[in-house]
Formats: sequence, structure tokens, C-alpha cells
Amino acid sequence: MRKVYLDHTAGMPVDPQVIEAMKPYFTQLYSNPSSLHSSAQEVRKGFQNARKKVAMLVGAKSEEIFFTSCATESNNWAIRGVASRNRGRGKHIITTAIEHMSVMNVCKYLMKQGYRVSFLPVDNTGLIDLEVLQKELADNTILVSVMYANGEIGTIEPIKEISEVVHSKDTYLHVDMTAAMGQVSADVMKEGIDLLTLSSNDMYGPKGVGALYIKKGTRLDPLIFGGGQERGLRSGTENLPGIAGMGKAAEIAKAEVGREGSRLSKLRDKFINGILETIPHSFLNGHPTRRLPNNVAVRFSFVEGESMLLNLDIAGVAASSGSACTAKTLEPSHVLRAIGLKHEEAHGSLLFTLGKQNDEENVNYVLGLLPDIVKRLRAMSPLTPRELRENV
Ligand code: PMP
Repeated sequence: MRKVYLDHTAGMPVDPQVIEAMKPYFTQLYSNPSSLHSSAQEVRKGFQNARKKVAMLVGAKSEEIFFTSCATESNNWAIRGVASRNRGRGKHIITTAIEHMSVMNVCKYLMKQGYRVSFLPVDNTGLIDLEVLQKELADNTILVSVMYANGEIGTIEPIKEISEVVHSKDTYLHVDMTAAMGQVSADVMKEGIDLLTLSSNDMYGPKGVGALYIKKGTRLDPLIFGGGQERGLRSGTENLPGIAGMGKAAEIAKAEVGREGSRLSKLRDKFINGILETIPHSFLNGHPTRRLPNNVAVRFSFVEGESMLLNLDIAGVAASSGSACTAKTLEPSHVLRAIGLKHEEAHGSLLFTLGKQNDEENVNYVLGLLPDIVKRLRAMSPLTPRELRENV
């Protein structure tokens, strides 16, 4: 049976070149980089090379990149680390209503510890309002955490403009780049970012490794204490194969981001327009132009996302309903609620995320299937108004 994978935000294959770059670190270059002998020196070299490649991906200096175990850890570290080190200066944090749970739940935890957290609303395309941000910034605001782009609705936030507002006060800006990895180019200097969460498995690298960019001079405490690896800021024996893999993935992403980004944007637009033009009562979730190249987030009135998913799955198509990361819960995604969707609108949402393996033929295949699936489900659905039953 034909298989079309359109769920890249939830999981990606590892690039074969990345696997090759990792292999020596399992069997030959296994020394602990902290050891003093010459084989450890070679490991250290490879490891610093990976750090350099990750730094180059985002315009940082090598010594500003710290490896972690995943984007979740990087988000936890950035927020808890700044909160703990700067609590003498203030206990106010600003974030948005559409962040990933690894930001949301840290903020909720900090609220229990006596911090005040403002969750900025977004408009119906997912953008935050710079004036509201300006108003929320107070003398005791120590951190603003905003995602680069949202993987569920595709919207890309105006980070440079946000940074200008944030830095009108003595406040740090943390940005979660995870959903945008390898799809758009970020530049920490040009965009004015103090802390940047980086993920490996969102750019065809291995799982189990991530990084945090920490601008020189940024004051934050470690999250994990121990043997003092990563210059005392992130202890634990380094995941060398993972780090080598992330380095290679970053190198490939930097080389390919422009070409692949524009290829995917064209496919994305064909996909979105094909849906909106052929299926009545279908709508785009998220911003029409400030949008991740791989993101096709849509919703259909009078149908359940899960039923569409099952029908697509039977036809060999893997997609996602609602949030890719929290799709296990029955609650409508907080992101879809934050852009103002009603319960049933959120539940009628589907998320297709494209990747390197997808081509026009894949898109045409799904565009050929969807109208029929939606029509069939609407004909059975008690949600469909009687007067529309024949024509949907
Ligand atoms: N931030 C964002 C925006 C995400 O989409 C995700 C999930 N891919 C994460 C953080 C967490 O990533 P991980 O589960 O790899 O730690």
C-alpha cells in the first residue's frame, strides 16, 4: 500500500549522513572527553567541531552553545535558570498562551514558587501584540519567553521586533526554536536573542540531544548539578554520538535551509490552496504568510479530526490532529483555543507537516483523498446542519 508520511513535527527520520557521523562515537571514539589521554583529545576535537557547527547554524559563538538532552530540558533550564539566578531582581516572567508544554508547565511550577507569570494572548493568526508586551513589561520582569514559531499552527513570531521591546527594559529574551529548526534561518545577534532552545530531532538529527544558546554574560543557574561538564553549567557525561549527530544535522540544515525552505513553501501553498478551494467549509489555522514552510494546519466544520485521521491512515497517510506533542489528551489543544477556535472547531483540525521525503505527488495523493473523506464523514455527522447535508 502507498505510504505518505506527513507528520514530521511529531517525528522525523535521521539523515543517513548524520548516522554516518555518529557511528565512530559508538565504537572508536568512546573515550570520556574529560580524560587526559590522547584518544580523549580526539573525542574532544570532534565534540568541539559539533559545537561549532551548531553555533554557526544560528550565528552564535561556539562557547555560547551548551549541549543538553532535548529541547524540553533546554526550555526548563533557560526559564528556571534565569528565574533562580535573578530572583533578587524580580519575580515576573512573561510568556505566551501558545507555548509548548515544556515552557507552560515550567511557568506554572514557578507560579507555585511565588513568581508571577503573564501569558500573552495571541490574535486569531497566532501573533502576539507588541503593544500588549510593552504594557506587561515591568521593572521586575526578568525574562520573556516566546517561541520562534508554533508547530501546530505554523505561525512565525516577529522575534526581532519582540527583542527590541523586551530590551527596552533590563530583561532577557528566551526563544524556543524547536518547531522552526532547519526550516528558517535564525540569527541570535541580528534578532537580539539572549537564550535560544535548539533541538536535534526536529532537523533530521538523533533524539536525546538538544542545546541551549546562552549569550555571553547572561546570568542563569544550572539546572543539573554534578561533575561540572559543559563548563560547570550542565553536568553529566556527554552524549557523544548524539552531539556528533546534532553537529552534522546542523551543518546540513545550514546548507539546505534556503533551498528546502522554498521547495516546501511551494508544496505547502499548493496543499493549502488545494484544500481550501475544493472542500467547502474548510479553513486555514494560523497565519497565511508568516508561516513555517512545512506547515499545513487546517480545519473542517462538522467533522472530527480523529475520524479524518483514521480514514487517512487506512489510505496510508500519516498526519496529526491538534497538537503533535499532546495528541494523547482529549482536551482541545491550548494553542487552537488561544487563537479563538471553539471546542468543535479545534476538534475539526488536522495538521500535516511536510518533510524532505515529500513531493508533489504525495500532496496530490492527499488532495485526491480528502474531499471524499470529508464528504462521507459529514454525511454521517450529527454536527452537519440538515440544509447543508447534500452539499458538503
Ligand atoms: N518546543 C516545541 C515548540 C516543540 O514543538 C517541542 C516538541 N517537538 C518541544 C519544545 C519539546 O521537544 P522534545 O520533546 O524533543 O524535548
